[in-house]
Amino acid sequence: MDILSVAGVSKTFPGGTVALQATDLAVQENDFITILGPSGCGKSTLLRMVAGLDTPTTGHIELDGRGVAGPGADRGMVFQSYTLFPWLTVRQNVCFGLREKGMPQAQQDEIAQRFIAQVGLKGFENHFPKQLSGGMQQRTALARALANNPRILLMDEPFGALDHQTRELMQELLLGIWEQERKTVLFVTHDIDEAIFMGNRVVVMSARPGRIKCDLPVPLPHPRH
Ligand code: ADP
Ligand code: ADP
Repeated sequence: MDILSVAGVSKTFPGGTVALQATDLAVQENDFITILGPSGCGKSTLLRMVAGLDTPTTGHIELDGRGVAGPGADRGMVFQSYTLFPWLTVRQNVCFGLREKGMPQAQQDEIAQRFIAQVGLKGFENHFPKQLSGGMQQRTALARALANNPRILLMDEPFGALDHQTRELMQELLLGIWEQERKTVLFVTHDIDEAIFMGNRVVVMSARPGRIKCDLPVPLPHPRH
């Protein structure tokens, strides 16, 4: 069954920019879909609408058969800019969503510990974001997204601000987690190497107006060397 369905979705911004046109996308459970395309082709707009941060002009988006209306804990988000809460420690950032839904502290800590270890940040639980490198901040953002046990991870150029070596490390980390946790991932990038390395499906978009050009399966695994 499709976990996510995007049907006939278009987006025209006030002022007339057509960011996205006639877009259909069916995401199956455990897919790792990379959305590849040049700057301005509507990748972020598509992801933001799935996230519930923006609304389609036409068409509709369903997650597990229910229409998406606004953001929800069923979608975990990681963006290029780290978006951690600067006044909270790594552990507190990771626990944020769990605390919001009233989970007991001991259980929050247990879940946080598991995901902090999984992203390789053991020993940094009490650090604040500004004490961490960019890669470590993105590891924290990833742990925070995973801790909420989302149905789908939405990632918008999450490694775009990192240096080459850190980026490759993060790609491998994320692939490992995807395999281990059996997560469903929608991952936006303009980097063709990244798209092919990460995805079991690559969705290629073109600009003016933004639309899906093709949707290709990519056999796994993708050894880098
Ligand atoms: P991408 O993520 O592929 O770079 P975007 O989804 O950010 O593309 O943008 C698609 C198009 O929509 C671009 O032409 C962009 O300038 C325009 N756009 C994005 N957000 C807005 C907005 N809030 N208001 C008006 N135009 C926008
Ligand atoms: P509800 O929305 O009905 O409160 P939750 O999504 O909060 O349900 O959680 C359902 C069960 O899964 C609860 O026992 C909760 O503690 C547990 N749980 C939630 N998130 C996680 C997680 N990331 N890892 C392990 N267990 C979790």
